[in-house]
Amino acid sequence: MAEHVAGHCLCGAVQVAVSGLSDEMSACHCDMCTRWSGSVQMGIEAPEAGVTVTGPVKTYQSSWFAERAWCDTCGSALWLRNVDGSETGFYEFVPGLFENAGGARLVRVVYADRAPEEFSLAGDHDRVSRKQYEAEHPHLNGRYEP
Ligand SMILES: [Zn+2]
Ligand SMILES: [Zn+2]
Repeated sequence: MAEHVAGHCLCGAVQVAVSGLSDEMSACHCDMCTRWSGSVQMGIEAPEAGVTVTGPVKTYQSSWFAERAWCDTCGSALWLRNVDGSETGFYEFVPGLFENAGGARLVRVVYADRAPEEFSLAGDHDRVSRKQYEAEHPHLNGRYEP
């Protein structure tokens, strides 16, 4: 876990200061993350209590339980965050905000079976299928994507 990490969007208008950024990163190939990120969504968790954000942030509530945020000036993705349900209290920051992804390493790919053909992340990490992931997170079932 990183003690204190600072990050920013492409234009620099949004600044984030984070205490307690995880040293683990996950990736998601679900349809929503694919469309929002343009390819594969990656995220690093941090508890909300340790996060300070300044600048022109916009959010979009992409499901009943989660929002996605971006910089209103340059459009950089900032985070995914659960705002309802059982898994609130954390930001899931995009790694690109931080130099060297804040030192986090990729440990898990979810919806791994939904990755485009010829498009999978190499390396030694867990690969979780849509079926497995939704079994572990019942609130997603049938409500996350068609
Ligand atoms: Zn920006
Ligand atoms: Zn996803």
